[in-house]
Amino acid sequence: TLDSSTSLRIAVQKSGRLTDKTLNLLEGIGLKFDDYKRSLLVKCRNFDVELLLIRDDDIPEYVEDGVCDLGFVGANTVAEDEADVTILRGLDYGVCRLSIAAPKAGDIQSAADLNGKRIATSYPVLTRKFLESKGLSADIVTLSGSVEIAPRLEIADVITDLVSTGGTLKANGLQELETIFDSETQLVKTNKPLSEGKQALIEKFLQRIEGYQKAEK
Ligand code: ATP
Ligand code: ZN
Repeated sequence: TLDSSTSLRIAVQKSGRLTDKTLNLLEGIGLKFDDYKRSLLVKCRNFDVELLLIRDDDIPEYVEDGVCDLGFVGANTVAEDEADVTILRGLDYGVCRLSIAAPKAGDIQSAADLNGKRIATSYPVLTRKFLESKGLSADIVTLSGSVEIAPRLEIADVITDLVSTGGTLKANGLQELETIFDSETQLVKTNKPLSEGKQALIEKFLQRIEGYQKAEK
């Protein structure tokens, strides 16, 4: 019999842009679950695996701490957290970019105009690294959400935010100036020691994910 404490625990975003595609991928490689909409911890029916459904922001830390062995999360979140985890694979969903955007008709037309300006963002670490790499100095205003309205509220002059189609920026009178980080979903693994059983299971899943990705193309 299997001790539940030895289950491979995988962190998945509970409800958001990555949820359905991650669950589709897990089912696509043969894992079977029931009732994952209702519970936070979901047992897999045919493997010694369980899913922990949490906010995406918590995933890098849970994997770093070894609370979860694996996690599916945006590269943007992993990089912003500077999480000590191993990136096993990039996956071709959740594709987006962190970009600088400024009011359309304003005086900031390129990244070079950012000196002395205020930048609103939910990604202070990635934004600061970008500024440093360009030798620019600007004030970072960290907001947890609704960053795109910060210029209109005069909280900031420009923003950095995640963009996929650009529709949200456009709707808020902003234009994209420059990409500072390209993102996609990543499968990450804890750096804490794992049992041989868990390592073997992870290897098996990686092979299946590879097969699944090839079959999708
Ligand atoms: P949670 O409640 O889990 O904290 P959230 O609101 O932070 O959810 P989502 O909006 O569901 O997160 O986005 C999750 C991830 O999806 C992002 O971190 C990013 O990797 C990816 N993503 C892809 N396209 C976009 C986009 N246009 N805007 C925001 N995130 C995107
Ligand atoms: Zn989040």
